[in-house]
Amino acid sequence: MTNIRSIESIIAPPAPHMVGDGFRVHSFFPGGRLIDKKRMSPFFLMDYGSKVDFSPSEHPRGVGVHPHRGFETVTIAYHGKIAHHDSAGNSGVIGEGDVQWMTAASGLLHKEYHEEEFSRRGGLFQMVQLWVNLPAAYKMTPPKYQEITHASMGRYVLPGDKGAIEVIAGNYKEVKGPANTFTPMHVLNARLNKGASIDFNFPSTYNTGLLVVEGKIAIGDQFVDTDHFALMKNDGELITIEATEDAIILILSGEPIDEPIAQYGPFLMNTWSEVEQAIQDVSAGKFGVLEE
Ligand code: MN
Repeated sequence: MTNIRSIESIIAPPAPHMVGDGFRVHSFFPGGRLIDKKRMSPFFLMDYGSKVDFSPSEHPRGVGVHPHRGFETVTIAYHGKIAHHDSAGNSGVIGEGDVQWMTAASGLLHKEYHEEEFSRRGGLFQMVQLWVNLPAAYKMTPPKYQEITHASMGRYVLPGDKGAIEVIAGNYKEVKGPANTFTPMHVLNARLNKGASIDFNFPSTYNTGLLVVEGKIAIGDQFVDTDHFALMKNDGELITIEATEDAIILILSGEPIDEPIAQYGPFLMNTWSEVEQAIQDVSAGKFGVLEE
């Protein structure tokens, strides 16, 4: 007998703010109704760039060189293209439907901005950035980078032309995602056609939430609109989603990391002395070199 997992709250997009001059984001967590910094652990932060039309620009908008330590940044592009460079020597372009899974871990410098050609043309932009926490045992491992193209994702096709589940990390039924993760989690992108109804089963201990990126869905008798986040309770395993319109849904579910959190700016550590060490290490040039 599987228990139905119920909705804890449906959260409207918080007022947006700019990250650099290229990313207009709604910060769903931490903060607001998810004031408990571990409520969605292992997912620490979710910045959602809802659809926005950027005017053409010769200067690529974005965020200049900055450090990270102690976690992973996961960037998912729904519309538009994002370019990035880091001090570990990685660079690339995240195109529509692609994901960049960057393990900052012991620390690197990077910059993120609109890809040059996209910038010149302008157009529709929509993305998500997640910060995925790392347990203490892995916070100081070497940085690495996983480029997860749309084509490389696992793909579970629903019968009867009802859509598909793209598996970025973890699995959906027998279909696995390409991302290597340090703790157990599922990151899924459901592209559902109107009328589709689909079940998701995650352990009740896994923190779980879903963002409606496009369209509208129903979970039981509650509707979740475009750009809204449904935080699920930890009271059951089964979630049934019905697409009341054609919909795209980002689904996050993961085993919580039960460790203390000390976060300051771009550093996500366990203790404040580790945060101070990170600041010192940046000043001492230990995060490498990256040109603006
Ligand atoms: Mn960053």
